[in-house]
Amino acid sequence: MTPLSQDEASSAGSQETGSKGTIRVLQLYPRDMNIYGDWGNVLVLQQRIRWHGYTPEILEYNVGDPFPEDVDIIVGGGGQDSGQLVIQDDLLSRESALKELADDGTPMLLICGLYQLFGRFFKTRTGAVIPGIGVLDVETHGTDERLIGNVTVSSPEFGDILGYENHSGQTRLGPGVRPLGTTAKGTGNNSSDGQEGARYRNIVASYLHGSLLPKNPAIADFLIRTAAERKYGSFTPGAPDDGYAELAREHAARRPR
Ligand code: GLN
Repeated sequence: MTPLSQDEASSAGSQETGSKGTIRVLQLYPRDMNIYGDWGNVLVLQQRIRWHGYTPEILEYNVGDPFPEDVDIIVGGGGQDSGQLVIQDDLLSRESALKELADDGTPMLLICGLYQLFGRFFKTRTGAVIPGIGVLDVETHGTDERLIGNVTVSSPEFGDILGYENHSGQTRLGPGVRPLGTTAKGTGNNSSDGQEGARYRNIVASYLHGSLLPKNPAIADFLIRTAAERKYGSFTPGAPDDGYAELAREHAARRPR
């Protein structure tokens, strides 16, 4: 067999044989916003995109980078208040591009710290106001009460969502978003209304780390299906292997708060 030339090899890498097409996943600020295993969300998307018969392309965007074109799914993780301060100016400089993508229906998964900063602002517990980009109609106030532990959320769209929270921010939803679900165990958005996360267009925003997608493949498949439908007009699922996800869900569901 003739070995592939360099050009053939790289095009085979970006579009595998028999692939239904490429899905480009962008992770926002992995250097500063990526805690409690949030990177695992990207790994799950990469694997499930393959299982569904598409070719994943994983891109990273950090402070100061050029913003990539033609992104199909955007993923953002959590971070300490200090990480949020590091990215705030750069994120604000991307406000109109990200708003346009969100309003156009780009599927996005936003966890904790970036969930907060896709909202209107996060006022930290020391009183510093970190402005957000206002894609989501939410605002967040830090308090001295840290919300930590395992969480189970009942979601009308995704069933039981399992994960782990660790935040000082208390988030209130405005009328422009709906909650992702209600908490059956744990706290979620704030200590009083029993709601967790937010939904807007094709954005899923949540406080849950763990990471979220390995234990909640229904959310991963929602992001992939939406991306494929927007890009290719339809989505034909493959046959993902959910064995490990089911085991992880069983273990997570048994954990105490
Ligand atoms: N720094 C934010 C808070 O404490 C976000 C934390 C996180 O992303 N886990 O509320």
